Amino acid sequence: DTADSGEEGIRLIGNCEYDIVITDIYLPGMDGMAVLEKIKSINEDIDIVVITGFGSIESAVSFMRAGAIDYISKPINFGHLDIIVQKTLERKELIKAARERDIYFRMSLTDALTGMFNHKYFQESLEREMLYSQRKKENLTIMMADIDGFKAVNDNYGHQTGDMVLQKISSNIIKACRSHDTVSRYGGEEFGIILPETGIEKSTRVAERMLDAVSSNSYLPVAQNITISIGIASFPDHAMDRTELIQKADLALYASKGNGKNRFTIYDGSLE
Ligand code: GH3
Ligand code: MG
Ligand code: MG
Repeated sequence: DTADSGEEGIRLIGNCEYDIVITDIYLPGMDGMAVLEKIKSINEDIDIVVITGFGSIESAVSFMRAGAIDYISKPINFGHLDIIVQKTLERKELIKAARERDIYFRMSLTDALTGMFNHKYFQESLEREMLYSQRKKENLTIMMADIDGFKAVNDNYGHQTGDMVLQKISSNIIKACRSHDTVSRYGGEEFGIILPETGIEKSTRVAERMLDAVSSNSYLPVAQNITISIGIASFPDHAMDRTELIQKADLALYASKGNGKNRFTIYDGSLE
């Protein structure tokens, strides 16, 4: 499509999806730089090639600084223009493919309902963090958390409300954690949290904050109290490998359930 002025070009761009715009830097009625900025504000993915007069490389450079992808000098050599267009389109395809790869990669590690990391990521991350802790001679603590009486929420309010509660609880759990903690949905209504560089003492403060963050929030229309139970186990104090560490945290979680829920328990040998 062609346009005789900057205004007309911008109108076209507003109405249709273009990959590339080729424009002179001198346009009737409107400054070329203003046109470029306007185009980018409408669709930042459009690649803009500017046409410059012979010897005005300076202005071509300032246009490229402002976001143009390339320039071509007058008089236009159509072979050259063809190459620029081909290269621009190839680059676009590569960026699109990279973005898609990135999206699929992230999707493979996250849980769609809660936005938390998934079980696979939890396991991989725990393996990695344990190796790192071993090398650094640091403690690492994990928490396994499970929603209390969640079946009743589903039974009384239906699964969709159950899902909403699960999302809200997840977001409250994330808020109670620190930015370097890994928070994941371990299974249905269970969470696995990795606290790197954290010993038992410090982890109990996170656990207290988490219990409070979950129980002090409202989950309307659900009237029953919403709480979670937590089990805590620490490396290297309680276990030397990943499977064992999860097992110990699970045992501690069962103890929290058995002792009345809405609490955390630190693993100790007497729970075996
Ligand atoms: P407890 O306090 O002992 O943990 O009791 P509970 O009812 O939470 O535990 P139970 O294991 O009996 O039930 C867990 C329920 O969580 C059963 C299952 O339907 C529900 N659940 C698991 N994943 C999801 C989900 O993604 N969405 C919804 N709505 N419910 C889920
Ligand atoms: Mg459960
Ligand atoms: Mg439960």
